[in-house]
Amino acid sequence: MKFVIVSGGVISGIGKGVIASSTGLLLKTLGLNVTSIKIDPYMNIDAGTMSPLEHGEVFVLDDGGEADLDLGNYERYLNVTLTRRHNITTGKVYQHVIERERKGDYLGKTVQVVPHLTNAIQDWIEAVANIPVDAHGEVPDVCIVELGGTVGDIESAPFVEALRQFQFRVGVENFALIHVSLVPVINGEKKTKPTQAAIKDLRGLGLTPDIIACRCEQPLDQSAIEKISMFCHVGHDQVLGVHNVNSTYHVPLLLKQQKLIKFFQKRLRLDSIILSKERVDRGKDLWSRWLKLTNSHDRSFEKVTIAIVGKYTDLQDSYISVVKALEHAALAVQKRLEIVWVDSSDLERQKAISTSGTATPPSGQKLKYHTAWGKVCAADGILVPGGFGSRGTEGMIAAAKWARENKTPYLGICLGFQIAVIEYARSVLGMNTNSQELDEQIEDPVIVFMPEIDKTHMGGTMRLGTRPSVFQDGTEWSKLRQLYGLAQRVHERHRHRYEVNPEHIEDFEKHGMHFIARDDTGERMETFELSSEDHPFYVGTQYHPEYLTKVLTPSKPFLGLVAASSGCLDKVLDDVRHGSYGPAEF
Ligand code: GLN
Repeated sequence: MKFVIVSGGVISGIGKGVIASSTGLLLKTLGLNVTSIKIDPYMNIDAGTMSPLEHGEVFVLDDGGEADLDLGNYERYLNVTLTRRHNITTGKVYQHVIERERKGDYLGKTVQVVPHLTNAIQDWIEAVANIPVDAHGEVPDVCIVELGGTVGDIESAPFVEALRQFQFRVGVENFALIHVSLVPVINGEKKTKPTQAAIKDLRGLGLTPDIIACRCEQPLDQSAIEKISMFCHVGHDQVLGVHNVNSTYHVPLLLKQQKLIKFFQKRLRLDSIILSKERVDRGKDLWSRWLKLTNSHDRSFEKVTIAIVGKYTDLQDSYISVVKALEHAALAVQKRLEIVWVDSSDLERQKAISTSGTATPPSGQKLKYHTAWGKVCAADGILVPGGFGSRGTEGMIAAAKWARENKTPYLGICLGFQIAVIEYARSVLGMNTNSQELDEQIEDPVIVFMPEIDKTHMGGTMRLGTRPSVFQDGTEWSKLRQLYGLAQRVHERHRHRYEVNPEHIEDFEKHGMHFIARDDTGERMETFELSSEDHPFYVGTQYHPEYLTKVLTPSKPFLGLVAASSGCLDKVLDDVRHGSYGPAEF
């Protein structure tokens, strides 16, 4: 097993995850099987209880693990399925060591960070790296290990020490390190000092960079490369510039141009891994499909505008998988995607316009209201993503109503699904209703709490992970089902506590809202859709299809939304029938 560690210096949030996933992708194009592990040095056991506004999206895995959003990057780039064990946190390793201590595994010893915790980290990495993660079920050849945060942080110290030891455990030819640094431009000059200081810190901790990946706005010039090479004590070929490019899909191209693969082939003696012709061909095919995709990205000029109406719009990473799913769908139909962000609270009339005629609305609120509605009305399609809590939900309901009445394509995901159900119940069924989550006092809720779930304990108590959704008999008319290749059942990932109240299903069906897919028992509603006579594309899914989207295989509900929004859904459905857009079933 070859290990490629990706660490960061200077500051975090400069694209370490993308560089790590792109490196993995390049190695995969050689025919190697690649897996990945993300280390998050925080105390939380997992990302499940963290606010999306603070840490970005919580990514959900097949096994129900709630993980850092970088695991999503890996799954999408490498086309793999990871487990909760692929995300290591400080909380998890401490919990593991403490449990072992209580069991008496270290009897008679003083349990310490070195060697007990650092050993546990190394054992964990080794064990997890060997788990087969792709459809072929083969043990991976290479494992990318991304260390979150920046080297030198107090939090990451035990992990850095564990990795220092790990290079000797696995052997030098099986361990390489990419350190991602930042080269800022001050008064027109590229500054290499922060990188020099970062590498000094790294070496001081016993780690040697094999590649220094320098994030910069403009391409790194030769003089900067030479300076970094000289002061950081590495060869010129070990300094790579990763400047801002058109899209993150171009990063693998950038790394390949700078001979990253050649470097690793030599450094990690990759030629010693014997690969079958089939695997080499698989790798080549992946690369040619990737090139085709980036080309088509560069040549898509026709725009499609999707409004994302949500409550965490201040930090766009909160919806990163949704954004990626839209991007993948737009790439597939060769359209240039424009996302407009709408904070759903801004759509709420009550707040913006005084109804009593006496109180004046807060300054700027009216403008926000009209601007937000301007965006919604101008969009080609509307998407209401997942979310928790009541803030902004009346705004989402208003957006869902607008989309339905004006025949604008709509996709509601999880909360967005529930929102459209509430809206339909109010406007079409004439009910005075809400979700129990949003209004605990509501007498006749259409969205109710799922009974078997623990109300008091937070973290891991939701309906989480992959569950089957079964398309009901007689739903061949459904565009969503056709997008899935008329599959009978699909497997998508879930993360929710509430669901449609089964008592009202008949009434909904009678009034045109069709719950076309349900869970195995038939009791839980998984998707709804309005018929073609009523709407060109009005779909909601209780599950989160964005978690399974892949760069080369776009998620089907998103493909439907983007295609309907750009007027080519019929053509796409035709193409799906002829096998385009990747496997039908997820
Ligand atoms: N808050 C809703 C629920 O728990 C929706 C969850 C979500 O959108 N992920 O059911």
